Amino acid sequence: MGKKDGKNGKKYADFNQWYNKIVEEAGLCDKRYPVKGMNIWTPFGWKLMQNIDRETRRLVNNTGHQEVKFPLLVPQKEFEKESDHIAGFEDEVYWVTRAGRNELDIPLLLRPTSETAMYPVFDLWIRSHADLPLKIYQMVNVFRYETKQTKAFMRMREFHFFEAHTCHATEEGAEAQIKEDLEIMEELSKKICMPYLALVRTDWDKFPGADYTVGADALMPTGRTLQMAGIHQYKTNFSKAYDITFEDEDGDHKNVHQTTYGMAERLVGAIAAIHGDDKGLVLPPEIAPIQVRIIPIIYGDEEKVLEYCQDIKERLEKIDIDVDIDDSEERPGSKFYEAELKGIPIRLDIGSDELEEQKVTLVRRDTGGKRSVNKEEIVDEITSTFENIQEDMYERAKEELEDNIEDIEELSEIKEEKIYRGGWCEKESCGKEIEDITGRDILGTLYEGEEYEGKCINCEEKTDTLVYISNTH
Ligand SMILES: [Zn+2]
Repeated sequence: MGKKDGKNGKKYADFNQWYNKIVEEAGLCDKRYPVKGMNIWTPFGWKLMQNIDRETRRLVNNTGHQEVKFPLLVPQKEFEKESDHIAGFEDEVYWVTRAGRNELDIPLLLRPTSETAMYPVFDLWIRSHADLPLKIYQMVNVFRYETKQTKAFMRMREFHFFEAHTCHATEEGAEAQIKEDLEIMEELSKKICMPYLALVRTDWDKFPGADYTVGADALMPTGRTLQMAGIHQYKTNFSKAYDITFEDEDGDHKNVHQTTYGMAERLVGAIAAIHGDDKGLVLPPEIAPIQVRIIPIIYGDEEKVLEYCQDIKERLEKIDIDVDIDDSEERPGSKFYEAELKGIPIRLDIGSDELEEQKVTLVRRDTGGKRSVNKEEIVDEITSTFENIQEDMYERAKEELEDNIEDIEELSEIKEEKIYRGGWCEKESCGKEIEDITGRDILGTLYEGEEYEGKCINCEEKTDTLVYISNTH
């Protein structure tokens, strides 16, 4: 890892060690559950996930999606209907084959994703064009037997999952859905301060059963990328396998066109990784489980300082801010340490000086910046500081992402841990050769497209296609 200015510290020196430690110390999860790859959501971590889910829900509800909850178990015969899908997941599936002392007649599997649970029912739900588009989603736990080393939030065998499934009368309808999904992703990324690249995956890297896949890739502090979301165009691949049809206006029966949009608890891991520092987490105010922590600094007149803190707390609660007071017996230094570790966006330090002047000392977690604020202006100050933090965190991460993309003409220029961008002839054999030689993945081409005229970095054939290449987490 290159050590640029400001890239010192434990996070950049040994990311894995830093990350594994910080997620547990900050209280995002408990890794002591006795099944590998399955962690416990602690109250603080789960609240962060729920706040992200709240934003996701708001965005998908506003675009006409409806929330559902399907059963966890899927019958084997339903799972086996779409051949590419089975091939993609069969090594990762957990099976339930016994109930009590008896073997089950029909083996059941724990959903690794819910296409095979939902699609047999879609045909019952959809009769005519009037039932379309069908837009549903669920937020559930899914199970995939990861063989690579597991990692909190990023690579788990049981994980929290958002999945939206849509059916449309036409391919254009499904294409418009992909665009809408990307708009949702864009809005969500502002809320969670996580810029990304929306890249159309290569054919050999698309979701099993999809016609094409758009991955949303974020940059990790290692210079590697992590896929945060997958948006998939299925066309009629699944609707043919599951016989999902509708009657159009002319009375003809046609297969529906389908899409899906998936995201997982990885978002929590990515936020921790991108914004955290050696002191702990740094959380965006819009989703932080605790948005403001008031720290009473007490040496003498205890009661008056605590009353003053309580007054500030109530003012902030009136505008729905998640605020608490750390009135523990700890010394102020330990309280600051704890607030920093948990990534609480704003700390309000209040002692006898603040009480006397009717002020508070406001400290930003992201910059460490401190300033004195009048008590009467506290609501406006907090609101505007939240907006500034939110914007600054997004912009800093975006700059980091852009700084880590390097244009190349030849394969031999690929050396460091970063994202490389270069020409590719679009031949699968040549693409796989690029991956073999570099040991990295071709992430794909920018969804929105970009102008290029040049040569393939490997075979030197003329091309107008640019691809992004990186190591992935
Ligand atoms: Zn080539």
